[in-house]
Amino acid sequence: MFQNSSHTNNSTLFLSGTKYGPTETRNSNVLAALSIANIIKSSLGPVGLDKMLVDNMGDFTMTNDGATILSLLDVEHPAGRILVELAQQQDREVGDGTTSVVVIASELLRRANELIGVMGLHPSIVINGYRLALTEAIRYIESNLQYKVEDLGKDVLVNIAKTSMSSKIIGSDDEFFANLVVDSILKVKTTNGKGETKYPVKAINLLKAHGKSSLESMLVDGYALNCTVASQAMPKKLGSFENANSNIKIACLDINLQKARMAMGVKIEITDPEQLEKIREREQTLVLERCQKIIDAGAQVILTTKGIDDLCLKTFVENGCMAVRRCLKEDLKRIAKATGASLITSMSNLEGDEVFEKESLGSCREVVQTKISDDECILIKGTAKHSSSSIILRGPNDYSLDEVERSVHDSLCVVKRTLESGYIVCGGGCVETALSIYLDNFATSVGSREQLAISEFANSLLVIPKTLAINAAKDSSDLIAKLRSYHAISQSNLEKKKYKNYGLDLLNGKIVDELKKGVIEPSMSKIKSLKSALEASVAILRIDTTINVDPEPE
Ligand code: ADP
Repeated sequence: MFQNSSHTNNSTLFLSGTKYGPTETRNSNVLAALSIANIIKSSLGPVGLDKMLVDNMGDFTMTNDGATILSLLDVEHPAGRILVELAQQQDREVGDGTTSVVVIASELLRRANELIGVMGLHPSIVINGYRLALTEAIRYIESNLQYKVEDLGKDVLVNIAKTSMSSKIIGSDDEFFANLVVDSILKVKTTNGKGETKYPVKAINLLKAHGKSSLESMLVDGYALNCTVASQAMPKKLGSFENANSNIKIACLDINLQKARMAMGVKIEITDPEQLEKIREREQTLVLERCQKIIDAGAQVILTTKGIDDLCLKTFVENGCMAVRRCLKEDLKRIAKATGASLITSMSNLEGDEVFEKESLGSCREVVQTKISDDECILIKGTAKHSSSSIILRGPNDYSLDEVERSVHDSLCVVKRTLESGYIVCGGGCVETALSIYLDNFATSVGSREQLAISEFANSLLVIPKTLAINAAKDSSDLIAKLRSYHAISQSNLEKKKYKNYGLDLLNGKIVDELKKGVIEPSMSKIKSLKSALEASVAILRIDTTINVDPEPE
């Protein structure tokens, strides 16, 4: 079980009312960062191993994803928490590269600490040097290492998806899952208000269903809602996807369609039993009036996150509507976005009257309840605002299904980023090695003390190919030396430029052309992880004193 390993190393840091100087503070922060990176280092790359995180209740999570591992750890050390947030930010913004970003940041910190502690450099010089190196690195990636994929063929996208899932649980079935991911993301292509093409990952619903092998996972057209209609008497299909004129109106509600009850604490004194009967009747008619208003606005499909009682169901059945209760709020938010509906949380307007506007309804071409695999679910097809698709994931148990879901989600994000940014770079440590050679040479052209920091930045990047080789049980020193020589030749000899795509073949322990092998990644993901790693390490390096402002009482 992993628990706050950084804290144990530094538990003496926060003694009451104490102030710590630069050396102690920096050493402690760097140690915390290294402890965090050491936990996830062994998960990096296609042959990285998984972690099992067990909580107090004995519940556990199996994962290889850096952001997931770190979010489950209870890290208390402030510097450790910066790295945890770094991984989460990378996960939110890119969806992949979470392990790499933490490993690079911790290596940058380790080397900076040596420069400051051993070589006596001022932290500002190191920070300036690092910043200079980053700017130069990004410039070099953009001008020399990335490829514009003008007409992104499906093969390139499949290879991108394969690279991102190579280290995950679905890595052994990468061909199958990569095609599934690419097909689903291409289905949700849409154009935003500014005329830009977008691929919203949220328009793809990932449903998990127990049983069968993961290879029986499937892609379904439309948004699959893991619910059924609330009454057997309701229609099972409305509209037709094939008919372009079909227009089914959907209401997305976050309100209860059950008999209204008086709020707790309201006291009414009645003397006549008839009045009590009238109150009861009114409670019932109030909600029926609500239903009628929704139907009058034109809703044919009513989805709510809360309950629907029998009398309301009767009204919906009589009007030929489909009504679904207890939907997940997250699902309704996505359906509302895809169909153009508004998620209604209250029907009262500013004057206090209950109204339901026609404009709150969304539209689609078809809503159908159908059996997928073994379970019934509702499919919403031909949504008006942007199309949606669903992936039904199959697997033997909750733990592996959760990990499959995380891996598929990461790959969807990576393919989306590639489609939206249009540039790719080679993986397998290729970019990091090329940059390390380039920056080492660049450092010699800088005639100030920043030179040392730039050179250390260059060496820090080698932590990625080194860790990849170590995790694959290969001789890392030998492989990295070879890889460096390939890149050094490619940068000094124009005729040997093709070597710039060379990276590690981790299965055979060789150096190969990653572009030909199809080990490629979105360029923006590489650039983003370098930028984020630098920002996180600079944030930590800038701290020179720790003061415990809230000492514990003696
Ligand atoms: P992250 O969470 O940082 O994405 P991963 O465990 O997914 O970590 O590993 C990503 C690294 O593994 C990248 O540097 C990528 O280039 C490398 N990689 C992925 N697939 C391969 C492969 N088939 N051969 C060599 N390197 C690979």
